[in-house]
Amino acid sequence: MMLSLADLLNQNDKTIQVQVPYDKSEYSAFGLTYRVTSADPVSLVIHHEKNGKMTIDGKACMRFEIPCDRCLTPVPVEVPLEFEREIDLRKTPEQRAADLDEQPYVIGTDLDVDLLAEDELISNLPMKVLCREDCKGLCRVCGCNRNTTACSCDDHSSEDLRMSVIREIFEKSKEV
Ligand SMILES: [Zn+2]
Ligand SMILES: [Zn+2]
Repeated sequence: MMLSLADLLNQNDKTIQVQVPYDKSEYSAFGLTYRVTSADPVSLVIHHEKNGKMTIDGKACMRFEIPCDRCLTPVPVEVPLEFEREIDLRKTPEQRAADLDEQPYVIGTDLDVDLLAEDELISNLPMKVLCREDCKGLCRVCGCNRNTTACSCDDHSSEDLRMSVIREIFEKSKEV
């Protein structure tokens, strides 16, 4: 959701406190799409010092369903966020680019609060989620969930495969 900072820009040494709903139902990163099950409103304290220089203190909490890395079962994951940003509304997009100070969430005198929260989210999302520590994953042969189904497939795990390769090398070296 967009938040206009035009009024705040006209008042020096002023602080506002706002709650802005995060209203996306999906978030995409790392080539994956994460389903947002719920999100607390993004809570912001924005202080305008002067000349467009503002500090933002933000808090948010988002909940996702992320597929288990091994068996693909959706796992509920809660990601609390807490962040601080400094923005300068007087900077033009060109100045920002030149200063390597990319803040895509600042558009003119508007703040794209979804983007701001996502800017923080990207470094807080777990890369790997397991439904449980000892998840057995999917059978590579029949595709069943091995946590809930006992199949009789001859399923060599990657570790076994690695061991057999080593054994083969070992056997070969003995032959020489
Ligand atoms: Zn799992
Ligand atoms: Zn199987």
